[in-house]
Amino acid sequence: MRNIPYGRQSISAADVDAVVEVLRSDFLTQGPVVPRFERAVLDACGASHGVAVNSATAALHIACLALGLGKGDRLWTVPNTFVASANCALYCGAEVDFVDIDSQTYNMSADRLAEKLAAAERSGTLPKIVIPVHFAGQSCDMQAIGALAKRYGFRVVEDASHAIGAEYQGAPVGSCRHSDVTVFSFHPVKIVTTAEGGMAVTNDPKIARRMELFRSHGITRASQELARGQDEGWYYEQIELGLNYRMTEMQAALGMSQMSRLREFVARRRLLARRYDQMLASLPVTLPFQGSSGQTSFHLYVIQTQARPGLASRKALFDHLRASGIGVNVHYIPVHTQPFYRRLGFAPGQFPVAEQYYANALSIPVYFGMEDSDQETVVRRLEEGVQA
Ligand SMILES: *Cc1c(COP(=O)(O)O)cnc(C)c1O
Repeated sequence: MRNIPYGRQSISAADVDAVVEVLRSDFLTQGPVVPRFERAVLDACGASHGVAVNSATAALHIACLALGLGKGDRLWTVPNTFVASANCALYCGAEVDFVDIDSQTYNMSADRLAEKLAAAERSGTLPKIVIPVHFAGQSCDMQAIGALAKRYGFRVVEDASHAIGAEYQGAPVGSCRHSDVTVFSFHPVKIVTTAEGGMAVTNDPKIARRMELFRSHGITRASQELARGQDEGWYYEQIELGLNYRMTEMQAALGMSQMSRLREFVARRRLLARRYDQMLASLPVTLPFQGSSGQTSFHLYVIQTQARPGLASRKALFDHLRASGIGVNVHYIPVHTQPFYRRLGFAPGQFPVAEQYYANALSIPVYFGMEDSDQETVVRRLEEGVQA
């Protein structure tokens, strides 16, 4: 039986050569290839500054630090995300809260956000940062979120870990038209990989410079940033409490090589998604909704089971597919129901749309190297498993 994973990287001979070449060069960690990789991502997404780091988690953290998030501040994100989108608030000593999702797109609901902001304004508890997450690769309603940011004075960090190569209102995700910073992930299961890696992009040079400082110990050698105007060759100053979040040259070389295939990667995912849409149209499952304001990159293809007599439960379908060698998965267990977040006072029932969605959600395989025949196998196993 051939195993079909839910996602998988595609590593070409050119990718391997790029990494090996760097291994033979003078630099192993952040050197000349890291800025070239930053440039390649900026060329694709249209922002003007990029800060490559060793994960999207690190990118979210330096974005929050650069925007001044700290004790007494609040950060809001969605429950339907990976835990990192919320944890970055806690790393900074801030409080986290959640905004429920839209039942069609599974993205942050701009209506729920507007209601929650109006209530927070009355109680003096407005957030400093809001992190919308472009779930499965489909952009959130950034125009509405950006307008709310102007009205209420909060900053916006887009978690685009799923969405490199996606478009919103004719512009690439990452152009930061309605946000301060956009973050990408290059984990192997994402669209483009550097093994581990992430990047924060922005159009604001001051935010970019602060993110660079936080990436590398808060240390500077730039004369205009030094407290004492020294110019000895060895001199540097630590001016912030930064971290070591640097990306290696091997990661950047892999990322550069992968970026040259971004269009191809996303085109194949979109084609596979269109084929699923057709092949699954007559099955009693809910297919992904595509809004008209953009084009998703299809990091995930998520279906929902329907709770009706005669139909398999999500768990039964999951177990059937896994037993057939098909690596289905579930994205996401609502963050506020995690034991750690319950200890902070959150409880099931607080974000009912995310919880209802989670109860029936199933991510089925979609990745660049997926053959048409693999996809047909997935569809056959789904047809078998969907009846109770
Ligand atoms: C993968 C992912 C992250 C974390 O990415 P890493 O690069 O693994 O740190 C954050 N947010 C979302 C939505 C993700 O899918």
